[in-house]
Formats: sequence, structure tokens, C-alpha cells
Amino acid sequence: MKRIGAHVSIAGGVENAPLNAREIGATAFAMFTRNQRQWHSPELSQGSIEAFRHNCREAGFLPGHILPHDSYLINLGHPESDKLDKSRQAFITEMKRTEALGLAMLNFHPGSHLNLVDEEESLKLIAESVNLSLEATGGVTAVIENTAGQGSNLGWKFEHLAMIIEQVEDKTRVGVCLDTCHLFASGYDLRTPESFDAMLAEFDRTVGLSYLRGMHLNDAKQQLGSRVDRHACIGKGMIGIDAFAHIMRHPALDELPLILETPDSEGWPEEIRMLYGFTGE
Ligand SMILES: [Zn+2]
Ligand SMILES: [Zn+2]
Repeated sequence: MKRIGAHVSIAGGVENAPLNAREIGATAFAMFTRNQRQWHSPELSQGSIEAFRHNCREAGFLPGHILPHDSYLINLGHPESDKLDKSRQAFITEMKRTEALGLAMLNFHPGSHLNLVDEEESLKLIAESVNLSLEATGGVTAVIENTAGQGSNLGWKFEHLAMIIEQVEDKTRVGVCLDTCHLFASGYDLRTPESFDAMLAEFDRTVGLSYLRGMHLNDAKQQLGSRVDRHACIGKGMIGIDAFAHIMRHPALDELPLILETPDSEGWPEEIRMLYGFTGE
């Protein structure tokens, strides 16, 4: 079946995320593992961890349907070594939090070269960062998100994702999350069933479909290839509703967390209902 959810709030504690997800009719969810605007957060308490696990069980969420997202402060490809170290430490802490919560994946934006080194050099740093974080943890897969390619952000081409994965030692613990808005903004058309399938075939050739661990479902405010990361509500942007109806019927996307990051959280229950309407489930 299709697992549809949204990036829900952890206000009041991570244990509230599964409850917030159930509240909106979700069968998957994303969340931050901590306050994402700060470098440091207090450690998760044992009570919070147990409550999180309990609430996930109660609401029927399995680790494969939960895709936490790392802090936007982290840049695993930072060309300056002190700042790279800070990012790596923060990412490892988040991987450990993910592990402690009994989860299996952590979604991250690859990083930015900041116009200080070339793409290849920064991609190498990102792969090294992933290797270090996998060594420091067990059982959690690092899930690279494709980006819109805004500024000097890497990961907007499938070739970037492939270059990172190629240099990751444990390939069983690296994956990819495809964000529809970012795909469209970075120049991959997906508005029709034909263009979506062509995009996915290109992903399969360049990266490998077996690495796909989830998707972010967002419409896009800007046109194809804009390289601007502005999410729109489903069917209200430049991608259009047909693409999302097609995704809902696509057998390759069964059981993957399909996560809304659309701007109107009040509208999530309705967006989820609408998307389920396309599946026939
Ligand atoms: Zn996203
Ligand atoms: Zn985005």
C-alpha cells in the first residue's frame, strides 16, 4: 500500500510526532530529531524515547515508514575543516538520536561547496562524512535528499547522488529520498506520467532504484529548472495534480514513506485524503 504522511511537529517532545501524524490520517511521517535551529539540544530522556516507541507501536508506524530529517544548519560538504567538524559532530549526534528512537533512517541535504572548492571535492567530503557517521552508529541508513540546486547546494543532479554513494563504504546503509519540488526545480520534468516514468528510469540508470527509501511530495511555486526551492500545496503549483495522481498509482513507490512538506499544515488531512483517493486503496 501507499504510506502517506507529512513532516509533523515535535513541539512538547519527539513522542508527540506519531500522535500528530495519526491525528491527520497519516500512515507515514517525518520529523526533526531535535530543535533544528540550534546546534545543541539536550539529550533525549529515557522517558521520551520509551514514549516515542510506545506511541509509534500504538499508532501502527513501523521504522520503514518514518523518515526523520536532520537540521538545516548541517553542511556535510563544508570546505572549511572546523565548520565541517562541527557539522559532522552534529550529524553523528542526530544519527545516534535516530538509533535511540529505534528508527532506521535519517534524511539529510547533502551539503554546499560555498564556491570555495569544486563540486567533486565537496561531494568527496560529503561521502567521508557519511562514512564517519555510519562507523559511529549501527543500523541507521543515511538517506540523501536531492535538492533544488539553490545557491551552491549539491545533490540537484542524479550524478551527484551517484558520486556520493559510490564513495560510501557500507552501501547497505545509504539511500535516497526524492523530493518532487526539488526534482522539478532542478530541471527534471515529472508533470505527466510519461515524464515521471522517464525521470525514474534515469534515476534507476544513474543511481539505482534500489536506493530509493522515500519521497517528499511537494508542488513547486517556480517553473521547471528554476533552481529555486519554494514548495506549493499539492495541485496548486507548477507541477500539477496529474503527477501526484500518477505517483499514487505507481507500484515502485509502495511502502515508501511519501511525505508532505507543503506550506499549509492545516490542509494536510485533506491533502492526505485526496492523495489516498487516487490510490484506490
Ligand atoms: Zn524535501
Ligand atoms: Zn525544499
